[in-house]
Formats: sequence, structure tokens, C-alpha cells
Amino acid sequence: METYDAVVIGGGVIGTSIAYRLAETRHVLLVEKTDIGAQTSGACDKAIFLQSKKPGFPIKLAKASRQIYENLEEELETSIEFHKGGGMIVIEDEDHIEFMESFVKKQQKAGIDVTLLDSKEARSIQPSLAEYIVGATYSKEDAEVNPLKLSQAFAQAAKRRGVDIRTHTEVIDIDIQNGKVVGVKTTSGYIATELVVNAGGPFAGKIAEMAGVGLTIMPRRGVILISEKINPMIFGNILCSQYIAAKHQTDEENKKKPPYGIGLSLGQTKSGNLLIGGSREFKGFQKAINDEILAAIARHATRIAPAIKPIRIIRSMVGFRPYTGDGLPIIDKVEGVEGFVIAAGHEGDGIALAPITGKLVVSLVENRKEDQSLLKPLQFKRLKAV
Ligand SMILES: Cc1cc2nc3c(=O)[nH]c(=O)nc-3n(C[C@H](O)[C@H](O)[C@H](O)COP(=O)(O)OP(=O)(O)OC[C@H]3O[C@@H](n4cnc5c(N)ncnc54)[C@H](O)[C@@H]3O)c2cc1C
Repeated sequence: METYDAVVIGGGVIGTSIAYRLAETRHVLLVEKTDIGAQTSGACDKAIFLQSKKPGFPIKLAKASRQIYENLEEELETSIEFHKGGGMIVIEDEDHIEFMESFVKKQQKAGIDVTLLDSKEARSIQPSLAEYIVGATYSKEDAEVNPLKLSQAFAQAAKRRGVDIRTHTEVIDIDIQNGKVVGVKTTSGYIATELVVNAGGPFAGKIAEMAGVGLTIMPRRGVILISEKINPMIFGNILCSQYIAAKHQTDEENKKKPPYGIGLSLGQTKSGNLLIGGSREFKGFQKAINDEILAAIARHATRIAPAIKPIRIIRSMVGFRPYTGDGLPIIDKVEGVEGFVIAAGHEGDGIALAPITGKLVVSLVENRKEDQSLLKPLQFKRLKAV
């Protein structure tokens, strides 16, 4: 029988980061039902935003992850296209000024280097923006990375540390005896193990069910348009205040919310394609979308950045953010199922938070004292076998 010290389920940015770190102390198998980075981690934007996070614990967590990014390329021995290009949140609507002013004050108090710009200052950094915009917030600390390269880089570095990776293999059951994990059943056979990490992203609830654990992580669908390759035109990442309002305000507070939960996210890849997003909707795992969503995203983006109007869209992608309801992931052991760990639910921040997640899972399973202040708020104590 095949035996491993640990089995990580899921080969997105989260599972590959965990496998890489866990391999410091254990012989690890990573099981992925499709391919590395082929689900949400391959259908998302590339932003490592700090200024968009909620003050308090979310910023503390994001900063810890951002710090790891500083040396990650060196550590993983490859380019992940990490770039400190800065980030901007465009304020399109006078009604958002008050909300954004207080947002900036809170972010500055939380130690984020962010400033409020007027329309002219914003357009001097991003000439593609419309003249009518009211202003923007700007932070030099915001950065970006290529998410596809990130999952691959973690996976390759994990392999160098001895991790075995089995793609196109699905975990179909978790074997529990006397309240302890003893193995997993996969589509390519049984693996004995005492530790299973559920890094299934939006599918984590289904995986938890296999261990008799009720875990509510909902897929929150997002659509992004991808343009043809063009010369550099967008510098760093751009969001709009509607994106922040959609993320931070209740429906009651955010009365002018556009259809499909649309809020601008605009960036340009190193190879020249524009990534134009995005929507936020609960539609289960339904991948089929109607043309109206694509048109609505394009209308929203070209209104704020009219210079992108003539650029051709070559395709779109649909991803499912793993949504927990409070904007924070769950990183915890499950009470009543020894050896079963959940590390999922990063919603729209999984790329930003992947580096710290691997470290936190290791601290959790090795009972390390370090990082406890980052771990505690992610341990929801609602994870119990039923
Ligand atoms: C439109 C959009 C834009 C985004 N933009 C950003 C951004 O700019 N910055 C940012 O930080 N985040 C962003 N995100 C969020 C980010 O993409 C996610 O938080 C992150 O990719 C989640 O990674 P994951 O590894 O948890 O999930 P996934 O990438 O979905 O990985 C989970 C893996 O588990 C596998 N799996 C599931 N069940 C099984 C099973 N039974 N057996 C084996 N394998 C299984 C799946 O095949 C999948 O590969 C965005 C998301 C979307 C949708």
C-alpha cells in the first residue's frame, strides 16, 4: 500500500504553496483532479493589493503574505513575474468620495502607504483614465504576480523537495477510523496517510463532506475579459471604488451597485494582454455565461478607461472565488477528525494570501508557537464532524 506523511487535496495556488512548505518536514503527496492551477487559480486576476483589504486583521494577514513575496522568486528559483507596479482605486462617483476618504484614513492608520489623488494626478499615472473621474487612491505598495506561474513555481519547488504530484486524479473519499484520518481513496487507488489537507478552494465543502464535516464555502463566480496583446498602456492594477464598495459595504449601503456585482479590475500582463474584470455572482458552478455580462463588464471598463475602447477582446474566463462570507479563509484542524485540516475559502484574495497560507498550515500541524496571532482569527471553531 502507498503511504505518505501527508496528502494535500487541490493543486491551486493554495494547495501547491502548502505542499511546498509541508515538505520541509514530511513526505507529501499532492492530488489534483485536473491540472496544476487549472481551476480558480488559472481564471483570475494577478493583483497583490494591500490597500483594498479591510483594516485590522485582514491587512495584517495580507502584509505578512506580501512580505514573503519580496524574496519568493529567489526562493522558488524561477520568475513568477512579481512586479511592484503600484495600485490605484478610481473614484468615479461623487457619492463615493466620503466613503473613500474615510477608507484612506483607516488604511493609513493601519500602516498602508496610500494617498488620495485628484483626477489630474490620477491621470498622470494612468493616462487611459477618463477625464470625468473624481479622483483615485494610490499605493506604491500594491504589486502583481502571474498566478499561472505562481502555482507552477510552487509545484516545481515542492517536487524538488520530494513532493509527489498526481494530476488528473480525484480524491473520492476520506477514510476515517476511530475519529482519525487513516487514508484517502482516489481514482487511481488508495493512499494511507495520517494527515489530509483540504485545499480544494471552491470545492472544499464537497471534500469536507467526505470526512463528515459541514463546511460552507460557496463558489462566487467572476468573469474576466482578455484582450489582444498591446504595448504597455496600464501601469500596475486599477480597481474602482465600486469594487471596494461591493467588497466592503452591505447592499443597503451600496445602493448604486451595478448589475452582476460588477466592479472594475484592470491590469496588463507582462506579455501585453489586458485583463478586464470583473463580476461577482452566486450561480453555483455554472460556467456558461450570457453575452450581456461580457458587454456590461466592457461598458463599465471603457467608461472609466476610454482609451481601451479600440482594443480587441480575444477571449474571456470564468472563475469561482471560494467564498466564506466574511472575507477571510479558514485555516484550521477539524475537531473530532484527527488529522483533517482545512485551508480554503480565500475568496478574491487567494493570490495575495497563498504564500502566508502555506506557512500557516505548517505552523498549525507542527504546533509551532510562531504565527499564532495570524492563525487564531482563522480558526473558526465551527469545524466539527457531524
Ligand atoms: C475573477 C477572479 C479574479 C480574482 N482576482 C484575484 C486577484 O487579483 N488577487 C487575488 O489575490 N485573488 C484573486 N482571485 C481569487 C483567487 O483566484 C482565489 O482565491 C484562488 O485562486 C483560490 O485558490 P485555491 O487553490 O484555493 O482554489 P483552486 O485554484 O480552485 O484550487 C483548488 C483545486 O482543488 C482541486 N480539487 C477539488 N476537488 C478535488 C478532489 N476531490 N480531488 C482532487 N482535487 C480536487 C480542483 O481541481 C482545483 O484545482 C480572483 C478570483 C476570481 C474568480
